Amino acid sequence: MKAAILGGKPVREKPFPAYVTVGEEEKRAAARVIDSGVLSRYLGVWHEQFLGGPEVRALEREWAEHYGVKYAVAVNSATSGLIAAVGAAGIEPGDEVIVGPWSMCISATAPLFYGGIPVFADVEPDCFCLDPAAVERQISPRTRAVIVVDLFGQPYDAPAINALAAKHGLTVIEDAAQAPGASLNGRPAGTLGQMGVFSLNYHKHIHGGEGGVVVTDDENLAERLRLIRNHAEAVVENKGVADLGNMLGFNFRMTELDAAVARCQLLKLKALNQKRLANVAYLEKGLAEIPALARPRVRPGGEHVYYVHACRYDEEAAGLPAARFVEALKAELPPFELREKEGTKLGVGYVKPLYLLPLFRERIAFGRQGWPFTLAPERRYEKGLCPDCEKLYGGGVLTHEFMLPSLEQSDLDDVIEAFGKVWKLRATLL
Ligand SMILES: *Cc1c(COP(=O)(O)O)cnc(C)c1O
Repeated sequence: MKAAILGGKPVREKPFPAYVTVGEEEKRAAARVIDSGVLSRYLGVWHEQFLGGPEVRALEREWAEHYGVKYAVAVNSATSGLIAAVGAAGIEPGDEVIVGPWSMCISATAPLFYGGIPVFADVEPDCFCLDPAAVERQISPRTRAVIVVDLFGQPYDAPAINALAAKHGLTVIEDAAQAPGASLNGRPAGTLGQMGVFSLNYHKHIHGGEGGVVVTDDENLAERLRLIRNHAEAVVENKGVADLGNMLGFNFRMTELDAAVARCQLLKLKALNQKRLANVAYLEKGLAEIPALARPRVRPGGEHVYYVHACRYDEEAAGLPAARFVEALKAELPPFELREKEGTKLGVGYVKPLYLLPLFRERIAFGRQGWPFTLAPERRYEKGLCPDCEKLYGGGVLTHEFMLPSLEQSDLDDVIEAFGKVWKLRATLL
């Protein structure tokens, strides 16, 4: 037997089944909207339709009910949702917001849109979410909020971080884009902070094409979110809004089409997550033979929904660098249908620690004079800031998407066979 990367026969060549969660229900919902002739019903003035059309409002009602919250505000992406949440929280130029280094970039850049200063705290080496002790070390008299991420599908350490936030008067914004349906101690991810932000882009557990939803139990925050979503500045006068802080709005409006599709998807969330969990269980059993690979740790009291399956990889025990292990695996396995050009969905680590992006290293965001970083000259963005995250990024974690609900057990058998083959042949790969 020879590894495919050395010229041997790959374990599998036929692409894995495409990740498709939409079908007849979504087709009917989209047709219903198109038949209505109105693909979006928002008006950017103070009017009944300031709040959107029937599909958007139905999605908001159903989302709020599903998550057991008072308010759900639909937006056109989680990116918009996070920006709106920062604005609703009242972040001002120079205010500090504690963020994590390991996430999609907007989880850390959202404060900048209001002149806020992102302050990075390190991640937990085992669960990969923000480490409460690291958060505490970064709190200063200028800290106003913390953006926590339910990374890879598991809720952040809400008891510890919420207690810190309460003690220091910080708003907790929860980025739950990767964790719809996850929970901690029986409470859904997304409802663990003051505002929770979900994504409905194609890569997430459920989607509407694009889209996002922000949830909260706070009436004032919900009101500010709706204003920021839809040209607040044009509405405050007629609506009688007294506090003008951050009432400069955007067009963050979700279309009726996206909302109609998202409503169908919400009904499928539970079944889709169950399939993910079943696939994870099957894979973990099959991969247990590889001692250098550790299954993800699930926080006590937590339910994980596996946006990706992130396994700790012990390079020393394996005797093979993670990059080489992954390279060899990629040669054994095919890509997914519809995403053929991306290669198979497997990699070392996750994104580069966000403070190493040119934006932070060069301190250039708006214009070229360094604003708003000029408001916090003592805050630095450089290598070594979050050593645990850097270690994980450097080879400590292997992430893959073979738990996607489109995969059946026969597909997973190929994945397990490929891992086993590369593991067995590892000495030939050095
Ligand atoms: C996908 C994602 C986002 C952004 O979602 P969009 O809807 O594409 O804007 C934000 N945060 C995290 C953690 C994500 O995974």
